[in-house]
Order: sequence, then C-alpha cells, then structure tokens
Amino acid sequence: KADSNGPADLGRLQRVGAKMHKEIHDYDDQQCGMRRHGTSYLVGIMNDYDLLPVHNFRYGSHPDGHKIDVKVWDARFTQGVPDGCWYGCTLSCSHAVDGFVLRTGPYKGQKVIVDGPEYENAAGLGANCGIFDPDYIIEANFYCDTYALDTISVGTAMAFAMECYEMGLIDKRATGGLDFRFGNAEAAIEAIHQMGRGEGFGAIIGQGVRRMKKIFAEQYGADPKILQDIGMEAKGLEFSEYMPKESLAQQGGYGLASKGPQHDEAWLIFMDMVNNQIPTMEDKAEALHYFPIWRTWFGLCGLCKLPWNDIVPPDNALTDEPAKIPEHVRNYVEIFSAVTGRQVTSEDLLLMSERVYNFQRVFNLRMGFGTREHDKIPYRAQGPVTVEEYESRAERYDKQLKALGYDVEKMSTPEKVAALRAHRESQYEKLVDAVYARRGWTKNGVPKVETLQRLGIDYPDVVEIVRRAGG
Ligand code: SF4
Repeated sequence: KADSNGPADLGRLQRVGAKMHKEIHDYDDQQCGMRRHGTSYLVGIMNDYDLLPVHNFRYGSHPDGHKIDVKVWDARFTQGVPDGCWYGCTLSCSHAVDGFVLRTGPYKGQKVIVDGPEYENAAGLGANCGIFDPDYIIEANFYCDTYALDTISVGTAMAFAMECYEMGLIDKRATGGLDFRFGNAEAAIEAIHQMGRGEGFGAIIGQGVRRMKKIFAEQYGADPKILQDIGMEAKGLEFSEYMPKESLAQQGGYGLASKGPQHDEAWLIFMDMVNNQIPTMEDKAEALHYFPIWRTWFGLCGLCKLPWNDIVPPDNALTDEPAKIPEHVRNYVEIFSAVTGRQVTSEDLLLMSERVYNFQRVFNLRMGFGTREHDKIPYRAQGPVTVEEYESRAERYDKQLKALGYDVEKMSTPEKVAALRAHRESQYEKLVDAVYARRGWTKNGVPKVETLQRLGIDYPDVVEIVRRAGG
C-alpha cells in the first residue's frame, strides 16, 4: 500500500504511482508482455539473436530452442492472472504452473505448484545443459526451490560438469556412474537430488564451478588451463544465462560486477550488440560506470528494476539518452522525494549509489579481493575456446579477423582461434582500463583517495584500506 511506510507526501507518491501503473497497463502487451508471459518471453528472442547459452556457453542458439520458448510456457502457466511478488506490482511478471505431477524425488507422484519457470531457469537448467524438455525444466525448477538451490548456479555448474564429461576431462569414476552428457535429463535430475542430499556427484557440483575446477584437476588430472577457459565463473560465482561472446560491454558487465557475473548490475547486451548504442570504448566505459551505479540504487531502496526498463514511454526513442529512459528516472526522483520529503535530483540519486558502489569495492579490498586480477573472466565468455566453436560461427569470426588485417585463407582454424583470442583478450583489458579510469580507480581497480574525497566517503579507515592497496 502506498501509505504503509508513512510517505512524507502521499498525494505526490500516488500521482507518480498512477502514472506508472497506467503506462504499464497501456503498453506492456505491445512491448515485453511481462504480465502475460513473464520473463519466459526472452527464451525465443535470445535464441534468435544467438544469445541463449547452449552446452555450457559454447553456442548461442539451438534448433530445439522453440521447444522451451514462450508458447510452451504460456500453455503451461495455469493461473491466468498477473502475479506480483509484492502487493501492488502492476507489472506482475511472476507466473506459476499448478497441478504439476512430479516424476522423481522425495515428492514423486504428488501434485505441486511450481513458481516459474523464469527465463534464467529455462535457459540455465534447460538450454545450457542441452535439455529442451519443459517437463524436466519445471521439475528441476521445483526441486531447486525445494532444496534452496540457486537455479542459475545449478544450471551453469551442471553445464560445466557436462562439458568436462563430454571432453573426457572426467569420467564415470567422478560422476558416480552417471552418464553426464549434455541433454541427459535423467542424469541431471538425479544430480539435483544428490545436491539436495549433499551426496555423490551432486555434492561436488553443488560446490560450484570454482571448486569443481580444483577437484577435477587434483583428483582426476584434468588440465587446469582448459578448466579455466570453460569454467563459467568469476569471483567464485557462476555466470547468469546470457551469451556475452559478441558483446564486449556485457563481458565487462559480468567481469566488473562487484559480486560476480550476474546481470543485476549491468545488462548491456542488447544495447551493445543488437542496438549498437555504445559503439566506442569510451561509450562502453561510460555505460559500465552509469548503469551499475543506477541499478545499485534500486537495491539501496528495495525496489525492483523491471518497471524501470521493461516498459518504456512510447516516445522514449526520441530522447537524448533512450537507454537511460529519462522519463522513468524522473519518476524515481519523484518517488524518492515524495517518500522522504527531501527534494532530490537524479544526480543526488546517483551520488548515493556511487558512494555505496565504492564502499562495496573497498569492502572487497578489505576481504582480500577487489583488484584487477579478480575482474578477469574465463575466455569462454569472450570468444571461441575450441576449433569446433570457432567453426560453428566461422563466417562471423573470419570476417572479424579479416577486418583486423589477417589473411584468413592462409590460416588453419587453430591459428584463427589463437589470433581472435589475442585480439579479444586485449580488447577486454582496454575496456577494464577505460572503466577504471571513468570510475576514478587506479589501473589495479582500487578507488583513488581523490575519488573517496569527491564522494565524501574519505573516512580514515576507508582511506587506509585503499592506500594499502595502492589507491
Ligand atoms: S516486483 Fe519486479 S520481479 Fe516482482 S512481480 Fe513485479 S516486476 Fe516482477
């Protein structure tokens, strides 16, 4: 309810709230259809744009993608009403499957309600593991929720284990007899049950990609270099389910995020790759300065970001900075001012958030992280690791090498893989340099003392931490 937290100016809050409700009501069906489909509408779009992670992020699309796209979920979502995760959310993107009869596990045979699946569940538990079976995805979704397992981490970790198995880096000795090929739904659901019980191979997968890399190298002799290249984690967190290979900005969005490669801080993939709104290195660095700070502000205020950018005003494209959705930023300025009674500007909101964002970096530093080496990402996130991957998109990659001056006709595929890798890795390092400079951090990713001073957070203990780290 609008008055439940005692806003300073209830009328002002209701006016901006009514405006936002009306816009969502009027335009959601024409734009993303969040009320009708939830985030599941993204599966088909990502598959079409080669952005849906398939087989541990080797590929961005699959001919069976249509088996888990929005039409399939629309037919299974049974409640038929917009379902919000808090009282009063007009966008109401949650959806559920009622009366689903479980086929496995401790609740086998029982009819249950399954909350979801969301895009990430369909993409991570499904496509990324090569499983295009909606019933499996719903069942895996239910048991992840029941066992309190994060569906993104489970999907990405299982996809990594499947690729290791298919590459022969591990075998049935490691999997406890499970035939852990891509697409094997039976083995995947058994691994989820094992994860829930903390037993067998599931208990290994449940430790996440970073620990699996160590275990597979130490106990099964797997090559640490290939494990590093294909293990989709950074800062110990599994990647969320967007293929970043063709978007340098999204690589930065993942690699430079404070808590690891999730899309909460910077989802720039469409802006960069599809809409070409941030073509230069400076544009990308500016986006990787602004959007993480802006998106962090929602977290500070306990607000969901989806109403900010999933629906846009009809004339948004005509504004100077359509990606920021300026009218919606003004809505949040109104909301903050109405709730607190402090008249603020959009710059004030950003300043609040930039302070916290820098505190987060300092906190990471204090815990022994927060420097450049921790902002690295596996090469699988940047480009094709294997010959097979390169050849699956050879036309695209050859064109890029030609533009760089290579005579691709005279090169073997391994030579092309190496040349593209050298280029893409150097681009990533240049991006990191540009983002650090824009954020007021050193080349090692440490906030400078002058940045702390500008933000008014140059408290003695904070300054001491950054000084020790060379800031
Ligand atoms: S608060 Fe956000 S995530 Fe929850 S139902 Fe509304 S739009 Fe969806």
